[in-house]
Order: sequence, then structure tokens, then C-alpha cells
Amino acid sequence: MADIRTLESTANGSIKKITLKTDKKYFKDILFRKSGFKKCIQCGRCTASCPAAYLYADYRPRDLMRRFMLGDIYTEELNELIWKCGQCYSCRARCPRNCKAGLGVLALQTLAVLEGNVPPEISDISKKIKRNLYLKGETFLPSTQDIDLLTEFGEQTYHRCRDNNLKRERLGFRSDDARNVPVPEESLREIREILKRTGFGGL
Ligand code: SF4
Ligand code: SF4
Repeated sequence: MADIRTLESTANGSIKKITLKTDKKYFKDILFRKSGFKKCIQCGRCTASCPAAYLYADYRPRDLMRRFMLGDIYTEELNELIWKCGQCYSCRARCPRNCKAGLGVLALQTLAVLEGNVPPEISDISKKIKRNLYLKGETFLPSTQDIDLLTEFGEQTYHRCRDNNLKRERLGFRSDDARNVPVPEESLREIREILKRTGFGGL
């Protein structure tokens, strides 16, 4: 039986009802099934369109689908690999069989979170994203693009982002804002409420 948490809307009705199911079996069964791995014909179009496969030589959604088919999903190596997926769903858009490799990966990521088995560098990134969201209502602020975070995406990305930050400074933008127009206060309050009610808490 899944642990189901339902969130009510706030007094002014600004938050819609959200239902969370946090049971491990729920994520494994439902998300794996929805990934459609049983229909995969190993054509490789997902891998050709996957930005993570472009960045990381050892990450290939087609191989993951094969592993899902074989039930080969409980290895240390795979627990490292799954965090390379950015959940962009280019794989879904390109698949001739309407499979969603990213959903199978999401099932494994969710299981890892529920089991407290998340690599420290991923926890660090998620803490930064949560802090940015809480303070500014945005996930990825220029001021948090430090070397540890960016080198994870490769040297090329690091230099491109560093150069972008220098250009921003020259143009007079603040380094702690990702864009020129700040998130409105009311939206910020809603974001903080959602973080609180979904268990992410404050800062
Ligand atoms: S594009 Fe679809 S069918 Fe082709 S390998 Fe990827 S998941 Fe399988
Ligand atoms: S969702 Fe993940 S596996 Fe699919 S294309 Fe995006 S990064 Fe690749």
C-alpha cells in the first residue's frame, strides 16, 4: 500500500491539491512500466538525442533500456550513472515506440532518494537548487555556478558559463539574479509554501 500524502490548497486557494505517493514499490512499478522498456527495439534514437549522452561517454539511454529489460538494475555503477540524466525527455520525443527512458531513470533516482542512497555531489547540487528556489524563486543562479558544480558538466561548459558571468558583470547585471526581472513576491511566497509542504522545508 502506497504512502499517500495529499496537500490541501491554502486559505487564498493559491496552491492546488497535490498528491504524493512515496512508496518505493509504487515508483519502481509505475514509473518502470510507464517507461515502456518492454517495447524498446534498441534502435538508439534516444541516445542520439540525449544531451547527457553527448556530455558523458558512459551514459546511453538505449543501454539503460536494455538493462531494464534484463532486470539488471541493482548495481553500484548504475547508481552513479542515473544522476547524469537531466529529465529533459528528448528520448521520449525521438523514440519510434513511444518509450520514455527518462521515466525508468526517474524510478531509479526516486528509489535512491527514498533509500538515502544519493551520491554526496548530487545532494550538494540539490541543496543549492533548493536554496536558490527559496531565496529567489529560481533554480540555477549565476552566483552558484562554482567550479565544483560546473566542472561536473565538462571543461567546455565551465569556460562558457564563466565567460557569461563576466559578460553579465560588464553589462551591469547583478551576479545573484539569473534574469533582469525578479520573481514576484506573491509567487515567491507560494514557492516557499510548496517547499515547506512537500517536505523540503526552509533554508
Ligand atoms: S529510441 Fe526508443 S526504441 Fe529506440 S532504443 Fe531508445 S527507447 Fe528503445
Ligand atoms: S530524459 Fe534523461 S535519458 Fe532522456 S534524453 Fe533527457 S537526459 Fe537523456
